Amino acid sequence: MVVLAGCHKTEPEPTEVEITRSQISIMEGTLYETTVYTLTTNVDGPRVVFVGGLHGDEIAGWNVALDLLDYSFTKGSYLIIPQASILACQLEKRYPGQGNNGLYEGVTYSDLNRTFPGSATGNPTERIAHAIIEVVTAFDPDIIVDLHESRDSYTGGYLGDSIIYCNVKTALFALEMTERMNELYITAFDTPFHVENSAPAGSFNNYCSQTFDALVMTFETNRKLVLSQRLDQQLALIEILLSKI
Ligand SMILES: [Zn+2]
Repeated sequence: MVVLAGCHKTEPEPTEVEITRSQISIMEGTLYETTVYTLTTNVDGPRVVFVGGLHGDEIAGWNVALDLLDYSFTKGSYLIIPQASILACQLEKRYPGQGNNGLYEGVTYSDLNRTFPGSATGNPTERIAHAIIEVVTAFDPDIIVDLHESRDSYTGGYLGDSIIYCNVKTALFALEMTERMNELYITAFDTPFHVENSAPAGSFNNYCSQTFDALVMTFETNRKLVLSQRLDQQLALIEILLSKI
C-alpha cells in the first residue's frame, strides 16, 4: 500500500494470491523420467491432483494439464503430473508398442491405466504406476482428476463426453459438474456430458477411489471432435471444478 505523508488511511488491500512452485522428477535418469509440479497458493483450499498423459494418444488431456502449469489458481494446492507416461505422449500412442503387442525398441509395455498401483520392482509400466502413486499419496489429496479422451462419445458406445467416478463420495459432485457443463458450455449441437459410474480394475481412478478419502474423477472428451473443442471442454470442466471448491 502506498502511504502518503499525512494520510492516515489504513484500509487493507485485498490479499494478493501468490503461487509458490516446486517440481521434482519421477523415474529419474530413465526414458520415463517425467516432471511432477506442485503449485501452492497462499489461500486455504483443497489439495487437488491433476494427472494427464496416462494415455499418450489422448492429446487434449495432457495438453490441458501442461496449460495448468500457468493457470492462475486462487486457492488451495495443486499437484500436476502433465505427462504421466512421457514416452507414450512423445509417441502419441496409448502406450509404447501399442499395435505391436506392446513391444517398442526391445521393451514390452502395457496399458499404464490398467496397471495401478504398480510395483517398485516390476516392469517399466508397473514402476511408472508405482512412482505416480507414491507422489500422489505423499500429497494427501482431497480431489483427484485424471484427464483422458475416448475414441467416441458414450452415444457411440465409448466413454467420450463423460465424467467417470466410482466412489460414493464423488457421485453427487460429478453429477452436478455435468449439469453445470451442459448448462454453461454445451449447445444443442453438442452431446451433453453425462456421468459413468465405473472405472476399470487397475485404472488410476479405480485405485484412488478405493484408497484415498477423496473426490476422484476422470474427464473424458470425445476424440471425434476437433482438438480445439476438446481442449476447450477439458478446461471448462476444470473451471467448473475450481468454481465448486
Ligand atoms: Zn484414456
